[in-house]
Amino acid sequence: MSPTPADFCADPRQDLLPVEHARARILEAVQCVTAVEQLHLRAALGRVLVEAVVANIDVPPFDNSAMDGYALRSQDCSDTSPSVLEVIGTSFAGKPYEGKVSERQCVRIMTGAVLPEGADAVIMQEQVERNEDQISFPGGQVGAGQNVRYAGEDSRRGDTVLEPGIKLGAAEIGLLASVGVSEVRVSRQLRVAFFSTGDELTAVGSPLGKGQIYDSNRYTLFGLLSKLGVDCYDLGVIPDRREAVRAAFRQAGDMADLILTSGGVSVGEADFVTETLGELGEINFWRMAMKPGKPLAFGRMGNAVFFGLPGNPVSVLVTFYQFVLPAIRKMSGEKQRDPMLIQARCTQDLKKAPGRMEFQRGILKREGDGSWSVTSTGMQGSHLLGSMSKSNCFILLAAESGGASSGQTVTVQPFLDLV
Ligand code: AMP
Ligand code: MG
Repeated sequence: MSPTPADFCADPRQDLLPVEHARARILEAVQCVTAVEQLHLRAALGRVLVEAVVANIDVPPFDNSAMDGYALRSQDCSDTSPSVLEVIGTSFAGKPYEGKVSERQCVRIMTGAVLPEGADAVIMQEQVERNEDQISFPGGQVGAGQNVRYAGEDSRRGDTVLEPGIKLGAAEIGLLASVGVSEVRVSRQLRVAFFSTGDELTAVGSPLGKGQIYDSNRYTLFGLLSKLGVDCYDLGVIPDRREAVRAAFRQAGDMADLILTSGGVSVGEADFVTETLGELGEINFWRMAMKPGKPLAFGRMGNAVFFGLPGNPVSVLVTFYQFVLPAIRKMSGEKQRDPMLIQARCTQDLKKAPGRMEFQRGILKREGDGSWSVTSTGMQGSHLLGSMSKSNCFILLAAESGGASSGQTVTVQPFLDLV
């Protein structure tokens, strides 16, 4: 039987779970959605391939010119003395020259046009002098294969051009089009339901009452999820009442593959998320050796994977980046990839107490000498959403670290395009 929230609350000395262990447990617990869809390339943008794509043609399909110039036989061009060749026709892109290039002949050719039979090289038009039906150029300018793009140089017929587990971006759908593939099989879009909890939360657009704050987390989550291309369902703000939280859990569990909530996972008197998860679903753990983001509920609700993120706005972003993102990638069928980490020199002292891994907000910058430096955004409170907006990376400080001094090298995780 899985432990109940009470089991966790009962023992405040319960060991904090290291970030890497938590991530490993999460990845072990989540599975890829099994449903598959066949989509046209444009509709498949942002989706994950479920099977390898094999090229049925060579790309390029024929030998062609990389330049505007003249297609010729390299053996007609002596290494030393000037060459004079007769121009016998033109090969345009899409309109090949049908004849053959014989001794001392050449064909005017445009970029992407078929290399005519007999020719094995192209000289750039800037390198020749044209006189009516003749071109001349100095010796030592042409070697076999020069300015020729060979058939199959990009992909060969029978090559696997994309492996399963690849998320299709602009380059990938372009690549698929280049091999003539118009439809692909991809995994179904993930359905993610999310809601905020808290009696203090007001939706933007309404005036703030006493003791109220605006609900920002649903907007942050909407931003993150939209960029990831999942299907998202915003279930609004749920008040801190047992029945309301239960109802929201049931509704989300019926519709989603993944449920994200924020707030209500601490041990406060109005924190019903963990309790409800233990009661209606399955709870795994909830105290993390990290800052910000110590309380985190992870489990299941019906068929959905459940993350109860902390309420503080910065904690939402940190825990999303560290745990939800890898889970979404796995659930969408994407191959796991290691996070991109950079070593950077910090420009000031960074304060930290040993015990929990910290994700401080930093500004990563490339210096004039090509090295990377990182500067803290300043105060690191988990309620300071402005610090997130100013930053472009997390500065990762290991649990046992007691901080870093100015000039020391630290590990940094850039946000890339997500935050
Ligand atoms: P909780 O985890 O519910 O105790 O919330 C921790 C802190 O985060 C409190 O200061 C809450 O007011 C704040 N908070 C919770 N949810 C939100 C939200 N959706 N938007 C902004 N702040 C929030
Ligand atoms: Mg709350």
